[in-house]
Amino acid sequence: MVRALTTFPVIPSLPDALAPLAELATNLRWAWSPRTRELFRWAGATEWDRSDGNPVELLGRLSSERLAELAGDAGFVQAVAQCHEELQHALTQPRWAQGRPGAPPLVAYFSPEFGITAVMPTYSGGLGVLAGDHLKAASDLGLPLVGVGLLYRAGYFRQQLDADGWQQEAYPDLNPHQLPLTALTRPDGTPLTVEVPMAGRRAAAAVWLAQVGRVPLLLLDTDVAANDPADRGITDRLYGGDAEHRLRQELVLGIGGVRALRAAADAGVLQALGGPPQVFHSNEGHAGFLGLERMREHVAAGHPVDTALEATRAATLFTTHTPVGAGIDKFPRDLIEAYLAEPAAACGLDVDGLMDIGRLGDEADVFNMAAFGLRLSAHANGVSKLHGQVARRMFAPLWPSLEPDEVPIDTVTNGVHAATWIGPEQRDVYDRHLPPDWLRNPEAWAQVDQIPDEVLWRARSRARERLVAEVRRRVRAQAERRGERAGTLGWIDELLDPDALTIGFARRFAEYKRGALLLRKPERLRALLCDPDRPVQLVFAGKAHPRDQIGKDIIRELVRLAAGDPALRSRMVFVADFDMELAAELYAGCDVWLNTPRRPFEACGTSGQKAVLNGALHCSVLDGWWDELYDGDNGFAIGGRDEAGDAEQQDAADAQAAFDVLERSVVPRFYDRSESPLPRRWLATVRHSLATLASPVLAATMVQRYVVEHYEPLAAHSDRLLADDATGAADLAAWKHRIETAWPEVAVLELAAQEGPAVKGERREVAATVRLGELAADDVVVEALHGPVRADGTIDEPRRLVLRPVDGVAAGRLRVGGAFTCDVAGEYGVAARVRPDHPDLSRDMELGLVAWADGTALRPEAEAGGEHG
Ligand SMILES: *Cc1c(COP(=O)(O)O)cnc(C)c1O
Repeated sequence: MVRALTTFPVIPSLPDALAPLAELATNLRWAWSPRTRELFRWAGATEWDRSDGNPVELLGRLSSERLAELAGDAGFVQAVAQCHEELQHALTQPRWAQGRPGAPPLVAYFSPEFGITAVMPTYSGGLGVLAGDHLKAASDLGLPLVGVGLLYRAGYFRQQLDADGWQQEAYPDLNPHQLPLTALTRPDGTPLTVEVPMAGRRAAAAVWLAQVGRVPLLLLDTDVAANDPADRGITDRLYGGDAEHRLRQELVLGIGGVRALRAAADAGVLQALGGPPQVFHSNEGHAGFLGLERMREHVAAGHPVDTALEATRAATLFTTHTPVGAGIDKFPRDLIEAYLAEPAAACGLDVDGLMDIGRLGDEADVFNMAAFGLRLSAHANGVSKLHGQVARRMFAPLWPSLEPDEVPIDTVTNGVHAATWIGPEQRDVYDRHLPPDWLRNPEAWAQVDQIPDEVLWRARSRARERLVAEVRRRVRAQAERRGERAGTLGWIDELLDPDALTIGFARRFAEYKRGALLLRKPERLRALLCDPDRPVQLVFAGKAHPRDQIGKDIIRELVRLAAGDPALRSRMVFVADFDMELAAELYAGCDVWLNTPRRPFEACGTSGQKAVLNGALHCSVLDGWWDELYDGDNGFAIGGRDEAGDAEQQDAADAQAAFDVLERSVVPRFYDRSESPLPRRWLATVRHSLATLASPVLAATMVQRYVVEHYEPLAAHSDRLLADDATGAADLAAWKHRIETAWPEVAVLELAAQEGPAVKGERREVAATVRLGELAADDVVVEALHGPVRADGTIDEPRRLVLRPVDGVAAGRLRVGGAFTCDVAGEYGVAARVRPDHPDLSRDMELGLVAWADGTALRPEAEAGGEHG
C-alpha cells in the first residue's frame, strides 16, 4: 500500500443541465427533503445504495455516460430544476423569524455532536440528534443560526454483534471529501486553520463547512499535516479516549470553535446571516471553554477580567441535559493546570481563579464543566419540566442561599424535527388530510380528527410491513456478515409478523434506560409475546458505549434470550448498528414506543416524540417529556410518580407496572376488533395522541421558545452591557463586587404583620425593617412572601410582594411596607427577605444572595446538597 503525501478532491464534472445537482448534494437539506432523495435514487439506484444514501459519493460514482444520459432526459432535468427551486425557496423565503419584531440575533450553537443524517456519523445518541434537529428547525424558521462542532475522523463506531450477542465495535475511516462538506479556505485558496493552545504547543484545526439548509455548521478537524502527530488525533473519535483526550477535544471545540467563528466571519461565511454572533448557546457543558475564549477577547480589547466575565455571561445560554452527577465532564486540577494555565492567564486569571469558576459545592480540586458553563451564562435551562426541577436541585450548591425552586435554571422541553422523522406512509396521510402547510403550522394538528380510520390504519399497517421487511433484510445481512450459512437462515423469513402489535425500544444502551426491564419476568414476557390470538413482538436496537460493560451485558442478554428459544426467536429481535436511518424506520413502523428509564434520570427523551409523530402510541415511565405531556389518555403510563429510592425496588415495581399496562391496556385495545375489522378504539387514541402531543413535541416549538425566552432577551441584555465600550458590563461587575462585600451586614431586623384572624379577601398590612450596612435603598428589594401554610409550617407556593420604602435610609436602616389580600382560607403565613436588585441583572436570583428574616428561611440547611448531586 502506498500512502499519499498530499490529497486533493476531484469534483465530478456535471453537464450544464445537471449543474444544480452539486448544490442539491452539498446542502444537507436533502436530509429532510424526500423528493430530493428520490431524485438521487433516480440518478442511479445501484450507486445510491452503494453510497449508503450519500449524494456526494453518488455523484462521484455516476459514469460520464450515465450523466450524459440523464442530461438528455427531459423528465429528469425538470425534476432537478424543481428540487433546486424547492431548495432556493427553503433558503430565501421569509419565515417565522422574519416576522419577529426587530431583526433576530445571530446565534452560535455549540455542541460536541450533531446528528443531521446517518451519512455523517458525528453523533452518538439523543444529544447529537437533538442538536441536528435544532439546526434544521432553525433553518425552517428562517432563524439566523450557526452551528459549531467537531469533525471526528472515525466518527462513532459501527456496531456488529457476534454469535453470542457481544457488541463488536468498528470505527469507520471518514473521508471528508466524500461527505457533504466544504473546507473553508483563505483568499489564496489554502485551507483555513485556527490555532488552539495545547499545553505549551499550538494545535491547528481545519474548519469544514456543512450547510444545513440556511444554517452553516462549522466542524473543526485537527487531522492536519502541520500538527504534531499527537494533536492530529485529537478529533479522532466521538467520546473516545480518557479524560485528558476529552479535555483536548473540548479545548478545540470551545476555544477553537470561537476562533473558527471569527475566521468564518472573515471569510464571508456568516455574511448572509448578518454576523457576527450575538448569542452563544452551549448544548451541554462540553463546549464550555467558549466562554473562556470570549473572555479573552474582551480582555484583549482592554477590559478588566470582571468586566469581561459580565460581558461574556450576558450573551450566553447554557443547556444542561443530564440529571446524573456522573454524566457531567469533570477534570482534575493537574489537567487543568497543564492545559488551561495559559488560556486562563490570557484572561487575567490564575489557575485558582479558574478552578473557582468551575467548582460545584465542596468538590475541591475538581473542575466541573457544568458549573463552569452555568457561571459563565446569564441564562440556563433544563430540557423538560421534571428535569428542570432536578437540575435546580442538582446545581443548588452554586446558589447556596436559595431555595432550590428559585435556582435560576428554566426549562425548555426538547422537541423533534417533523420533516426528518415522519415516515413516507404517515407523511402521505398528513399531506392528504391536514391543511397543506401542516409541516410549518402547528395548529394544523388540531385537524387530525379529519383522518378517517381506514386511511390511518392502512398507513400504519403499510409502515409496519415495511419495517418487518427491513428488519428481515438487516438480520439476514448481519448473519451473512458473521459467516452463517444460507441454509441455516430460513427462520428469518418468518421473523416478525406484519400484522402483530409491534413494540419498539431503541436508544443508547445505558444502564438507567433499563433495556432489559421486561426480562425480569421471562415467563410473563413469553406469555405476552407468544399469545396465539393476540401476538406481540419486540424490536430492539441500540449501541452501548464501548467502555460500558453493563450496557453491553444488557444487549447480550436480549440477544441470547431470543436466540435460545425458537418460540421467542420470531417475536423478539435485536437489530444491530442503530443509527439515524434505522431509527427512522423503527419510529415509522412500530405501534408502540416503549421507554423504561429509571425515573428521574431521563432528562427528556426524544425517541418517543418521533414515534408519536408517526402515529405510534407512547408507553413510558412518567419521566422526561412524558411526565409533563401524558394526559391519562394520549398513550400509556408505566407506574406512577413515586420514586422507590432503592434502584432494585424501583426496577421490580416498574417491571410489574410495565407488564400490567401492556397486558391490561395496550394489547386489549390494539386487538379490540369488536366493532369492525379495524381497531377503532386504538385509532381514536392515536388521533388523540397526535392532537395533544404533536404540536408541543415539535423542534419548531422548542426553537421558537429558545428565541422568545432566551435568544432575544440575551441579545438585548448583552447589547445593553456592551454599549459604550462595555460601560454597562463594567458597572455591573463593580456593583456585584460592592454587593458581595457588603452583604454579610444585610439582614431583615424586624417583620411586623397584623395579627389576629382575617376574613378571606381582607387586606393585611406588613412592614419590615432591614439593615443595609453600606448599601443604598435601590441596591436591594425587600419582599414579603405569603400564602397558605403547610403542616410543617412552610408556605405553600409563596406569592411575592415587593415592600416599598416608607422613608429614607437612616443609620443604615430602611423601613418598608405593603399590603396583600388573604384570598385562601385556612392558616396563612408571611415571611420576609431582602435580595440584591439591579436593572442589569438578567435573573432576579442571579447572585444567589438573600437575607431572610430570622426563622423564616424556607430551605432547611440539611437539604443544601441536593438529592441528586
Ligand atoms: C431520537 C434518537 C435518540 C434519543 O433516544 P432517547 O432514549 O429517547 O433519548 C437516540 N438515538 C437516535 C439515533 C435518535 O434518533
